[in-house]
Amino acid sequence: MEHQFYSLLLREIRQETPDCVSLEFEVPVSLCDVFAYRAGQYLTLRAEIDGEEVRRSYSLCSAPYEGRWRVAVKEVPGGRFSTFVNRRLPKGFASGEVRLDVMPPQGDFVFDVDEQSEGFYVFFAAGSGITPVIAMLKEGLYRESKSRFVLFYGNRTSEHIIFREELAGLKNCYSDRFSLYYVMSAEHPGSELFYGRINKEKCRVFFSTLINPEEVDDFYLCGPLGMIEEVEAVLEEFSVPSGKWHKELFTVEGAAASAKQSSTVEQRAVARALIEVIIDDEIFRFEWDGTEDNIVDAGLANQIDMPYSCKGGVCSTCKAKVLEGEVHMRMNYALEEDQVEGGYVLSCQCVPLSEKVVLSFDD
Ligand SMILES: Cc1cc2nc3c(=O)[nH]c(=O)nc-3n(C[C@H](O)[C@H](O)[C@H](O)COP(=O)(O)OP(=O)(O)OC[C@H]3O[C@@H](n4cnc5c(N)ncnc54)[C@H](O)[C@@H]3O)c2cc1C
Repeated sequence: MEHQFYSLLLREIRQETPDCVSLEFEVPVSLCDVFAYRAGQYLTLRAEIDGEEVRRSYSLCSAPYEGRWRVAVKEVPGGRFSTFVNRRLPKGFASGEVRLDVMPPQGDFVFDVDEQSEGFYVFFAAGSGITPVIAMLKEGLYRESKSRFVLFYGNRTSEHIIFREELAGLKNCYSDRFSLYYVMSAEHPGSELFYGRINKEKCRVFFSTLINPEEVDDFYLCGPLGMIEEVEAVLEEFSVPSGKWHKELFTVEGAAASAKQSSTVEQRAVARALIEVIIDDEIFRFEWDGTEDNIVDAGLANQIDMPYSCKGGVCSTCKAKVLEGEVHMRMNYALEEDQVEGGYVLSCQCVPLSEKVVLSFDD
């Protein structure tokens, strides 16, 4: 049951930096297949916080080969879930005491291992964006023994570098195949090139002096929208085909309202529709009458356990395939072009444009 929550015991809560903790889950043997994952995927966690259900997604920072399930949560000032995890979950508890609801791994921002490959992969991360990236690096370095990896990792200061020791360990272990460059915005690292944020100017220098983008098989970007846009702009300048770079965003502030207001297609949304959804092999039907904002909310209002997490078009927990009918998707920061062409949508961003819509969450 891919879309249901399982109550998992926490094995450990570890303070990674002053504002980031990592949580390791205990996955019973009977659930190991359900929770099998690819490096880069995320878990959706659910908790009741002050009487309200809150769900958020967190990338696995463990690698599949380690046989562990660990996520890292960086505290966002004023953020509901991240503050709950960082401040309210008891650290150093006796194992077996704390449980959280966890949905099995999801997401398409993944590193596909090919053990015979002699690949060259370049990663850009900032802040908590390191979580899926370190999983990919660990898995890749361990399983692709002939491939090379480069990481550019942006943070405010060295104190904020998440997984600093683990990254140093990878550097020691794989010194001939792994290059690591820290970029710091609020602490001078002794070199102008690595002082500031990862931006276009720095990327141009990286691509002219440290790596040759023509030799790179794949780029992986994870961090704030600003960093991703700057790196993408330079990848375009250097004529890197878009199929060679992969990205994941954690949040897009303020995008929802503008996307809704500016859309003219939105006005074609039908007033009434029959919505059919297939979730874990079960079919559910409900009426769309325009009172809810989107198909996920309409399903929830009809007591259907719709899969979702961010409700902001950023994660892909609500990804579904349109099997019949037409919908309008307001925003999409998660699906790649070929997925959209293949009929996939983020249902939390969809309103129906036809009188019948069939969506499969299982495809
Ligand atoms: C696929 C995916 C994977 C993710 N993986 C991780 C991960 O590994 N580690 C991790 O720490 N987070 C990760 N996130 C982000 C995480 O899901 C939450 O969005 C984040 O923890 C904030 O949730 P919150 O409830 O604390 O804040 P909210 O209460 O949702 O937000 C409070 C305020 O902070 C802003 N905000 C929300 N998120 C961020 C952010 N990340 N940075 C800056 N401002 C923000 C909001 O716009 C809002 O104004 C991931 C998100 C996605 C979609």
